[in-house]
Amino acid sequence: MVIDGKTKTCGLIGNPVEHTMSPLIHNTLAEKMGINLVYVPFLVTEEVETAIKGASLLHLHGLNVTVPHKSAVIPALAEIDPLAEKIGAVNTLVSTEGGFKGYNTDMTGLYRAMASYGISLEGEEVILLGAGGAARAVAFLCGFYGVKKVYLCNRSVEKGKLVAKEVNVGLEKELVIPLGLEEYTKIPDGKYLCIQATSVGLAPKDTEVVISDPAFYEKVHTGFDLIYRPANTRFMQLVKAHGGKAYHGLKMLLYQGVEAFELWNQVKVSEKYALEVYEKMKGAMGIEE
Ligand code: NAP
Repeated sequence: MVIDGKTKTCGLIGNPVEHTMSPLIHNTLAEKMGINLVYVPFLVTEEVETAIKGASLLHLHGLNVTVPHKSAVIPALAEIDPLAEKIGAVNTLVSTEGGFKGYNTDMTGLYRAMASYGISLEGEEVILLGAGGAARAVAFLCGFYGVKKVYLCNRSVEKGKLVAKEVNVGLEKELVIPLGLEEYTKIPDGKYLCIQATSVGLAPKDTEVVISDPAFYEKVHTGFDLIYRPANTRFMQLVKAHGGKAYHGLKMLLYQGVEAFELWNQVKVSEKYALEVYEKMKGAMGIEE
């Protein structure tokens, strides 16, 4: 690739950033689509609002934002997309005339990843495990895409209640019912889509699972784990052992990148290119599915 005076610069701000897979996603897409763009990681340890101001003055074309800055950057934005505003977190900044506009492609990426597996949210009842930043965003996504009910199970019941209240108020409907981890027995009998949004089971503690009782997995027709390291979490193993389908979160990571790339370049990335990038990501992680 040739870097010249017209090369658009995009990047990732966060802390840490050295293990990110985003440069692989964006530099591969730029090369495949013949777009003169380069993507690099930027370590930002403090003063994130000053960093955004600097990025704007340097006319950086676009940025991704990762932990711990996804909410802290919001006051520095010129504009924010309605879904991202409700969620209260952004992961993609697009350069506009007045400054950066913020989006949350983590969630639209999750939606697209689920769609690629034939999982639909519309009309579903969902069990959501967790009440952290990701789970809160997933609850809003469920509300945006027609989920009928969300049973949110979290270790800290108080935090679960707080998130449920925020989401229900934000969506102006009683969507989320907060429960403790052992209270899944209160969920009406039936088969549910279960989204695993806790950090339990993340490598290297990959033998752990947030709910281990086999009876819980009888309620799950499909399990989607946001975790992708490892690629076959204990949660996924238990879902499959009880006859359900189970997926990890690597395609969510892929599509959040694809959606950011599309926003920055006003293009549509073909499924062929997206899946070619996905093969590279799997290769980089040493996983087969
Ligand atoms: P977070 O804000 O730190 O929330 C962590 C959640 O895990 C909380 O609900 C917490 O419960 C729960 N938890 C942690 N340790 C636990 C334990 N020992 N027992 C029971 N529950 C426990 O994290 P996050 O940002 O929401 O991220 C959650 C997961 O999603 C992470 O694994 C992250 O890697 C993954 N993720 C993946 C993608 C992707 O692109 N695939 C994107 C975003 C996030 P309490 O409230 O009780 O502490």
